[in-house]
Amino acid sequence: MSKSLTVLNNTKESVGHHVRMLDPAILSTVDDDLIRGNGNELVDTYGRVIRDLRICVTDRCNFRCRYCMDPDIRFKRKVELLTDSEIVRIVRVASKMGVKRIRLTGGEPMVHPTLSALIRDLRKLDLEDIALTTNGSLSTKADLQELKDAGLDRITVSLDSVREDRFAYITRSSTTVARVLQTVQWAKEVGLNPVKINAVVIRGFNDDELPELADLARTMGVDVRLIEYMPLDSGRRWEMDKVVTADDMINAINDRHELIPIGRPRPHTPATSYRFADGSEGKIGVIATVTRPFCNACSRLRITAEGRVMPCLFSTTEWDMRSLLRSGADERMIAKALVAITHRKQAGHKIHDEDYQQPNRPMSAIGG
Ligand code: SAM
Ligand code: SF4
Repeated sequence: MSKSLTVLNNTKESVGHHVRMLDPAILSTVDDDLIRGNGNELVDTYGRVIRDLRICVTDRCNFRCRYCMDPDIRFKRKVELLTDSEIVRIVRVASKMGVKRIRLTGGEPMVHPTLSALIRDLRKLDLEDIALTTNGSLSTKADLQELKDAGLDRITVSLDSVREDRFAYITRSSTTVARVLQTVQWAKEVGLNPVKINAVVIRGFNDDELPELADLARTMGVDVRLIEYMPLDSGRRWEMDKVVTADDMINAINDRHELIPIGRPRPHTPATSYRFADGSEGKIGVIATVTRPFCNACSRLRITAEGRVMPCLFSTTEWDMRSLLRSGADERMIAKALVAITHRKQAGHKIHDEDYQQPNRPMSAIGG
């Protein structure tokens, strides 16, 4: 292992953030036995098994959420982005190596012109679950039905405020809360199950709305998942003081509706869940990436829109899978690349370390 790590010096980008080529030197560090036949799993050096791929299908978005994208953000040229068939090639190999669950995200995945065709192709692979994260502003009921028919299992809709004026301020868009909630309702009606709502909670921004977000879970009968603010904003304005901790979120809701913890439904799920003590429909989940990291149960790799594989949301090293694919790599080489990357997955994020460096890439370009 130490020998292979010394090969990791071919840096193409700025200090602290590295793009690594999946060149013959890297691929030769992977023993052929590790990729022979089906059933060889992607296991990292800490014993974590990779079961999930989060795929950013586009870096583009029709919103400019203040905690995510600055208005002047520059998007990649189309030729720089992975094509659908390149995405399917990677997932085909990954699915033979134990990856079971795919989440399509962005940017805003609904701006991807061939999303349903992509889902249809992914559905043909050996996968248990295909999910989508969206801002809920663009899809009609017919679009959602089309995605469901193509093979999408479930959907998460992001909504950080239920107040129209604040929602417009946060997203810098003309979409309304009512429009997003309509998407949630339609998603339920077409049978995407479960439908979840994600809200990033930021101190002094929307933390006064926690009780209202809990009301939403109850009235719509959905899971509302409250996410701690992470240092992944393109404007680099994140500060620890702006993080509302999972404990504070739960306390704020408990004042209005008593919550009963029901733990983490499955070890790999990032949210810890709560039900309402009065038996009401809906659930609350908290994703405490900052204050209660769940890195030791992480089962994910992420693929950026331009085809870089990131072993962690907070990786400062990205692996250039696109160049490998475009150099004519066969399935064996893709499998070797996935093993090599998995072997270099970091133990966890280091947000609390003094020398912590925020990745250059915002959440919208990683695929949250
Ligand atoms: N555009 C889609 C959406 O908004 O749902 C998918 C992509 S978005 C990057 C995925 C999720 O990341 C959203 O729920 C968003 O709120 C969350 N997110 C973005 N920046 C974040 C940050 N700095 N900290 C925590 N969550 C963040
Ligand atoms: Fe777009 Fe989602 Fe980022 Fe908002 S959070 S700017 S909707 S990618």
